[in-house]
Amino acid sequence: MGIELAKTYDFKSTEQRLYAWWESKGYFSPINDPRKPGFNPSQKSFTISIPPPNVTGELHLGHAMFVAMEDLMIRYNRMKGNSTLWVPGMDHASIATQLQVEKMLQAEGVSREQLGREEFIKRTWEWKEKYGGIITKQIRRLGASCDWTRERFTMDEGLSKAVREAFVQLYEKGLIYRGKRLINWAPLLKTAVSELEVEYSEEPGFLYYFKYMLADDSGEFIPVATTRPETILGDSAVAVHPEDERYMKFIGHKVLVPVLGRTIPVIADDYVNRKFGTGALKITPAHDPNDYQIGQRHSLEFISIMDNTAHINENGGPYAGLDRFVARKKLWKDMKNAGLVIKEEPYTLNIPRSQRGGEIVEPMLSTQWFLRIKPLADEALKVVREGQIRIVPEHFTKVYYNWLENIQDWCISRQLWWGHRIPVWYCDDCGKEFSLREDPVECPNCQSRKIRQDPDVLDTWFSSGLWPFSTLGWPVETPDLKYFFPTSIMETGYDILFFWVARMIMFSMEFTHKIPFETVYLHGLVRDEEGHKLSKSKGYVMDPLIIMDEMGTDALRFTLLVGSTPGNDTNLNMKKVEANRNFANKIWNAGRFVISAIQNAPSKSGKEPAETLADRWILTRLNQLIRSVDRLFANFQYGEAGRQIYDFFWSEFADWYLEIAKLQMNESVERAHLTAKILAHVFDSSLRLLHPFTPFVTEELWGYLKPAASEKGFSPLGKAKPWEEALIIATWPESEETRFQEEETTKEFGSVMDIIREIRNMRAEKKVTPGKKIQAIFVSSEKLDLLKAQKTVLCALAHLDADSVSFQASLPKKLEKVVSLLVSGVEIHLPLAVMLDREADNSRLEKDLKEAQSQFERLEKLLSSDFASKAPPALVEKEKQKLIAYQETLAKLKDRMK
Ligand SMILES: [Zn+2]
Repeated sequence: MGIELAKTYDFKSTEQRLYAWWESKGYFSPINDPRKPGFNPSQKSFTISIPPPNVTGELHLGHAMFVAMEDLMIRYNRMKGNSTLWVPGMDHASIATQLQVEKMLQAEGVSREQLGREEFIKRTWEWKEKYGGIITKQIRRLGASCDWTRERFTMDEGLSKAVREAFVQLYEKGLIYRGKRLINWAPLLKTAVSELEVEYSEEPGFLYYFKYMLADDSGEFIPVATTRPETILGDSAVAVHPEDERYMKFIGHKVLVPVLGRTIPVIADDYVNRKFGTGALKITPAHDPNDYQIGQRHSLEFISIMDNTAHINENGGPYAGLDRFVARKKLWKDMKNAGLVIKEEPYTLNIPRSQRGGEIVEPMLSTQWFLRIKPLADEALKVVREGQIRIVPEHFTKVYYNWLENIQDWCISRQLWWGHRIPVWYCDDCGKEFSLREDPVECPNCQSRKIRQDPDVLDTWFSSGLWPFSTLGWPVETPDLKYFFPTSIMETGYDILFFWVARMIMFSMEFTHKIPFETVYLHGLVRDEEGHKLSKSKGYVMDPLIIMDEMGTDALRFTLLVGSTPGNDTNLNMKKVEANRNFANKIWNAGRFVISAIQNAPSKSGKEPAETLADRWILTRLNQLIRSVDRLFANFQYGEAGRQIYDFFWSEFADWYLEIAKLQMNESVERAHLTAKILAHVFDSSLRLLHPFTPFVTEELWGYLKPAASEKGFSPLGKAKPWEEALIIATWPESEETRFQEEETTKEFGSVMDIIREIRNMRAEKKVTPGKKIQAIFVSSEKLDLLKAQKTVLCALAHLDADSVSFQASLPKKLEKVVSLLVSGVEIHLPLAVMLDREADNSRLEKDLKEAQSQFERLEKLLSSDFASKAPPALVEKEKQKLIAYQETLAKLKDRMK
């Protein structure tokens, strides 16, 4: 009779087995593959490049979110018949990786510098081969159907070539230059870092108020406040608002830098906020981004006061050599002694910390490589404005415009060893600088061999900016690049819209003259149940690996996918995951029933009967669901689509239709056969719809459904066609031409469901024993035929006594001792007397009797013991009263049970 399914769904034994099977069958590769014979360039492709996780990365919920979302898109499109490609890969993550290797060396007692650059890079590659890329294994556990045969790494040979080509092109165009600019400096790592590698945290601090004395010995001063007093050492002006009546008179005068005694000007600038602090600003152009701008506007002196370890340098006078925070304390103390301090007050600071090193990032002037990005930004603005690229949700478009319109030159150099080394050489003889596609052996200008390469490496985002096309082969015009590029969707978190997404668009327009992707889909961040951002340092961590171990991958995926709407954050809690594990079990249990019903169904005999109302209803609802899901998918409303499939499957198919199918399976042979066929069709379609959300449980069940259904001659999707090899490559369901009056069907069956629900509610309210069959009188002129036709369904699902149920067009006289309901225009009368259940009543009474008896005996024993003479009389009296009360209860109960 076919294979029987296990009683419960065992995701542990299923997931890895299915994943290995999918991969070994080559299902993750595009069906129309430019690398294989028979390739058809005109077939539609659907491509996603994975946001490359760091090679040092370990799976967190943020990864789980994008993997689940992208896999859903890929699986849906694969089933739609598109040639899908999901390109996986990893980022070399300069800083993170270098730190890991340095930590390892530290344990060996060697420093990076002792080892030397070449050896260090060799050791880093070794580390990468050995420990890197745990994350790709973890991504597999999520069910990611990426084409692993096309996996890339930002430092692999091809991608390194792409980086080199991109750099040289920009350099030759004069868009890359070297200069001294204000950048974010990480003193512990001793490198420039990008804004993305800076994490802001609110920390308690102080606002320090002090006097900027006028240089004219008048004894007058301008009060100024700062949160970083040590930067006073680098001040080159005091700025006030040009219309501030308090300070206008000082504009153009000189003031004295505390302790150092340098004279600096008082300047006027609109930027100054008169209401903040004292309304006067100290200006440190070399250590603050806003002051940097003011410094440029007013041609102020740029005084660097720190070295690359954030110790005070020679410009700090007596504080030279001190750590910045030691200098802060000492300077403030000295200023106090000099009578320059006004007050200090507690103040909450927004402290920029290095994401990797944890130290406070210092804005510093530094000689770095920059990319003049404005011309690239203009192109990137244009393609979004013209609608060539669509951003979902749309409101992020404004944020994108705003960022690109105000873009600053991009600092692309890092003082690290692990990464793409800047392809610029200097000649020690003629002093020329040059950038070449191939490593030179001599100076192209003077042929000297005394040349050295720039020591810095490129910002990691330089190579990831090339990702969508470099992974497909650029700068070589490969068959993959021709067919799969531009890609279809870039799916990522909204937090890296600028750092990454905008750069990919700029680079793609610059180097390929094509958009990199048609749509940018931004998902929200995953937060914990209280809405906190999940962060390791704050202990808000939920480990997706543990969740998958405990609840199964499908449960985690479904929770992430259904909880999400584009651009909105998702609060995740374990209760939701648990509920979705129950959903996976529900699918499994429904599957067991359906498959065994198909196996036990009679083979086709005689003429097929017409569908019942319930049949027509479930087929109609399925049709409506398919249409709705397609519409929602087209609008990126994946979460809502998942919710609708869930509701259909659980409430309509499993809770209603399966119950009715059970009845129909016991009717005629023809009816049983047709019911089994409909069960197969609806269940098959449901598994297909659910597959992109919960790939494992659906594929597993489909593997049982297929042989059972084929044996009975049932075709997939109710259409005459062969069953596919696997669900992952099966066809997506299409809604059928309307075969039934959809509206009438759902309305009619809706009334039947309402009636059953209301009777069930009334039974529960009156505490009628579950399963006890009761009498019912239905009165309706309009729906009489419908009710009569649905008698079996009504009786079975509302537990009515078929022999005593009656249907009438009208009531000759008013009924007595009945509970009456009015549902969808139908009067339902349920005789009360019959509803009262003598048996249940008695068992309840017996329970009460037992309880009263034991209390009575306990008190009797207590009152005949020492207690009666030794305990306080009031207490003894209280217990005596209790005894009497129980005596009375007992008598009453015994009386009722007679
Ligand atoms: Zn030279």
